[in-house]
Amino acid sequence: MTDENTPQSQAPDTSADTKTYARQRRGARTSTKIGVIAIFFLVGSNLSTYVVLTDRVERLDSRYGALRVPTIASERPDFRIINGHDHLYMRRHLPKYLHAAERTGIDRTLFVASNGYTLLGKREKMHEMYDENVQEVLAAARENPGKIIPFSTLDPEDPDKLEKLKKYERQGIAGLKLYSGHGNMYTLPLDHEDMLPVYAFCEEQGLPILWHVRFDSYLKEFRTVLDLFPNLKVIVPHFGVAFYRPKSPGWKELQDLLDRYPNLYIDCSFGTRSILVHGLEIVSQNRDIFRDFFNKYSDRVVFGTDMVVTGNKEKTTLWVESVIQANRDWLEKDAYYFYMASTQSPYALKSARNQYGLLRGLALPDDILRRVYAENLERILQRQPPPPAPQAKTTQLPQPR
Ligand SMILES: [Zn+2]
Repeated sequence: MTDENTPQSQAPDTSADTKTYARQRRGARTSTKIGVIAIFFLVGSNLSTYVVLTDRVERLDSRYGALRVPTIASERPDFRIINGHDHLYMRRHLPKYLHAAERTGIDRTLFVASNGYTLLGKREKMHEMYDENVQEVLAAARENPGKIIPFSTLDPEDPDKLEKLKKYERQGIAGLKLYSGHGNMYTLPLDHEDMLPVYAFCEEQGLPILWHVRFDSYLKEFRTVLDLFPNLKVIVPHFGVAFYRPKSPGWKELQDLLDRYPNLYIDCSFGTRSILVHGLEIVSQNRDIFRDFFNKYSDRVVFGTDMVVTGNKEKTTLWVESVIQANRDWLEKDAYYFYMASTQSPYALKSARNQYGLLRGLALPDDILRRVYAENLERILQRQPPPPAPQAKTTQLPQPR
């Protein structure tokens, strides 16, 4: 199937509106109107002058209309959206996020607790802040009922990790986040015996694990865990980090895994700033591949933004809003602009030479979006353990009489 033959790949939908642009336009129109009124009085209530001017304003207006930037389409339904993957440093960084989330249609957010390396980018802090940030995320959830889904984390090298996890479970966590399959945070094999009681507890309790695993590095160990705990619900973020090379064998491996393990899910977040832009450029250049993936695995994909909410000065309310919007746009729109992808941005992918930050999206149908935006995660979060995974064919066929 070529891009040109699909209905989604028509020219950018210029009838869509952006909130920001609409505001600017309203502002422009108001000032134009004031100008028109002033002139109206200046020429002594000359009606013909007024008609001529109004006509010019209208014509100007339609010219602006042709330049309207397509972003979140108002013609799409009002989706229920759960942001299934983000991090929060401190509760005082939350108001700007929640404000932006409300403006971009996010109803609830799953915040995973993090270590010092993820939150501050400092390697020496890798074994720090685990407990501290779990309590911060739990407190944020208590203070914002119905808005936040808290996931704890743990240090695989902590001898008290299982006891701590049990405590967090009593405190109200909805799942566990593990970083152990991240290239920079890998300290123990994923199937190390010290971790097995943790996986067993999560499986028994129906607690999902959002588990960063690079499939190209740790696939064998990861499969051992999934084979040992077939009812464990696991969400692997960033397509298992396979999104960078959708034409490589790794993309096929990802699908083989989803086919084999029914309790395995992936999230379609990319990461923050340059990683996000990189992901969006790859999607933009491989739309058929990603669209096929979503069509085939729409009940296995979870939406997330993974922007890491901290006190970083760059991360203003508007910044958060623009990031959420870009994360929606690539799924919902046929084409959209994202300023971080433009060549003027320090986060742009240089090889893309994307002068204006124009990107192509997947324009997924509504039913797929509903699953990805909310339904899949809601199902995963149900605490009852899922029905047993299908066993290998051991059952005897009935004997013929
Ligand atoms: Zn993350």
